[in-house]
Amino acid sequence: MSQTKKGNVLLDEFRRAVYDEIVSQEPLATRFAKLSTSGDRRGMVEMLVEMPHVEGLKPGDSYQGKNDAQAARLYERSLQVTATEVEPGDEHAEEIRTCNILTKALFAAGANGRVFLNALCERARRSYRLRAYASCLRDCECMLALPASFYDDSAENVRYFVQRRKECLQLERECSRKLEGNASSRKRGGRTSSTSSSSLSSSLTLGKRVAATPVVDGKPHDRLTSCPDSVELRFDEARGRHLVATRDIRPGAVLIVDRPFSFSTDAPALGRNCLHCHATLKLEDSVKIPCRNCQTVSFCTETCRKKAWETYHQYECSVFDYFFENVSNDRRQQTSYLLLAYRTTVVQALSPRNSAETRGVLNPDFFRYHASGKSIDENVSEEYTKSGSRQTYNPLDYRTVFQLETHCADVEPNANLIRTIQAIFLAKCLISVLSKLDIVCTKDTFVPLAVAMLQHLQAINCNAYEIVENVHEETTRVWEPRNIGGAIYTTVSLVNHSCYPNVVRHSYPNGIVVVRALRFIGKGCEILDCYGPQFLIESRLTRRELLWKKYRFLCGCDACTQDWKFPLPETMYYKCTACSGPTDVSRISANVSQNVADQRCTRCKKIIDLKKLEKQLRKSIQKRLSAVAKMYQGNYRDAIPLLFEHAHFVNKHLTEPNIEAFCLLHSFVKRRDVYNPHKGILSAILEKIYKHRKTGNVYGTMFFTLKCIIINNARQCKIRLSDEEAYNFRDK
Ligand SMILES: [Zn+2]
Ligand SMILES: [Zn+2]
Ligand SMILES: [Zn+2]
Ligand SMILES: [Zn+2]
Repeated sequence: MSQTKKGNVLLDEFRRAVYDEIVSQEPLATRFAKLSTSGDRRGMVEMLVEMPHVEGLKPGDSYQGKNDAQAARLYERSLQVTATEVEPGDEHAEEIRTCNILTKALFAAGANGRVFLNALCERARRSYRLRAYASCLRDCECMLALPASFYDDSAENVRYFVQRRKECLQLERECSRKLEGNASSRKRGGRTSSTSSSSLSSSLTLGKRVAATPVVDGKPHDRLTSCPDSVELRFDEARGRHLVATRDIRPGAVLIVDRPFSFSTDAPALGRNCLHCHATLKLEDSVKIPCRNCQTVSFCTETCRKKAWETYHQYECSVFDYFFENVSNDRRQQTSYLLLAYRTTVVQALSPRNSAETRGVLNPDFFRYHASGKSIDENVSEEYTKSGSRQTYNPLDYRTVFQLETHCADVEPNANLIRTIQAIFLAKCLISVLSKLDIVCTKDTFVPLAVAMLQHLQAINCNAYEIVENVHEETTRVWEPRNIGGAIYTTVSLVNHSCYPNVVRHSYPNGIVVVRALRFIGKGCEILDCYGPQFLIESRLTRRELLWKKYRFLCGCDACTQDWKFPLPETMYYKCTACSGPTDVSRISANVSQNVADQRCTRCKKIIDLKKLEKQLRKSIQKRLSAVAKMYQGNYRDAIPLLFEHAHFVNKHLTEPNIEAFCLLHSFVKRRDVYNPHKGILSAILEKIYKHRKTGNVYGTMFFTLKCIIINNARQCKIRLSDEEAYNFRDK
């Protein structure tokens, strides 16, 4: 096996070597396949552990450490920029350029050296001069959190440290005063606290536009802690665990607000977003706070850095490059999943016993869970069929992660082989990190750790969700979704798939996900999300193939069983006004047919008054058009209720699928709006609607859907738009 320059084996190399050895030697291949089809995770791990390649594997550190020489050079350069003459009028741009160099120096510098102190202090000063007080405060906070013990090796160093600290204290006071002055002049009721830390935190929030996280609509569920009582957890053999509406649910209703049990960041987002809360670091008033150990990851504040370090980053920092190293582009997504599996293990296996502890100890419960390596699906199903089950379903409770579907016995043995090799590699990485922290690991610790990594990798494969932010695309002037990372949401994982879903997910700060109803969901109907393939884009065959390969089920949603085709037919069929059943009475036929009065429902045989329906539909479509016209004029308040009325009519009188219903759905699936770290027009409007109306969600949803359709998906939805119309609908 080839080695990196530090002498480390890459995960990919290791995987290839072990994989080839197993599949090319007959008794081994069969033995592994048997363990795989019986779902014996422990057996799979133990079989591989005995192989010489695996036994000899000792992954060393693999990360981009600090480089003081480089830091010093960068710091020098930042001083030179200042020294050279700057054209008048160009000072602002020059300051920003200098700040960027200082940031680079700060990331390269060891936190216990003078360059770090200098670069941090200098950046704070410059932020202050640029009137970016919030940024300045974040740098001060970072400085004031540095422990004196970093510098106490010489009296001169201590003096230097104390001096820089003093400067930052002074800047902090100045900034707080400025910000509070601004706040009170805006009649925001600025706080008059005298302690520096509380004024600091209040000022920090001022500088940041934080979108409020919604709460669930209605009374919270007493056991499903992330849901309202309008949904219920059910279980049956065919569908497994799933969520069902206990009453009629209106579009826009918030059905789940879930926290991630664990999360990860994709490689391209590492320099762009905070590792901990995923806030964007590209805004003018944001600063990048470095990890004290590596150059790779960034944080939005000292608070995020500290939290991340205590809960997971200290266990991954020195092996961080293994999760992302040397992989071709198409496997990039997968590599963020390696980090996700690793973190899921770390946060549970090493949870601090109390808040005073900053370093975890091995959690004995965790090892008990993974001692056998067997799934507990049988026990779970029993628990949820019993209607008297009183177990609370909390997304931060490890049991909910442990109960996630893994398909361990159903997947191809080779897929399990790859995951087992990865799991062993990850467990070896963790062991090597722990040994440096004086946490003793024996072989009895190693196997359950590898088993846990394997179970998490399997669960992630069919349960992980992406964390998304919206980015303003300069060329198209449209907000486009972009993936930041992955996460495990155990409540959202209870929702089954449909190629025509009735809910949509949105990412919020701190990895929180919000699930809203897209359409009317009747009492007793299942809540259905889309796992990827939707019927607008892929054919039934492709959808079913994708779903089978990844999730091992044959999709039986309406779109699949009735084989809905796209583009949708122009014809729309009415529901029977008496029994609400589907009819073969269509809009077009009503126009053409002479025997309008003779149309009868095939089910209840009642006569359908086509003329009346036709008139009502025309009127309803007029409402949509007039709503669109109102929105062109910026009159959203009057437009949204009209859209809602139209949606209500469509739901009541037209059978699925139909273009009108569809217009209200499609782009929601594609565009996960709302969370927008920039001052997003869309989210701003939605928040406004929320505020103005109690039932704002409904209107918000309708508005959004329509807006998105008009901008992005008019073509796909077969809505004709003039250039002018399309232009008017872009961000105003
Ligand atoms: Zn953060
Ligand atoms: Zn680090
Ligand atoms: Zn389907
Ligand atoms: Zn009928």
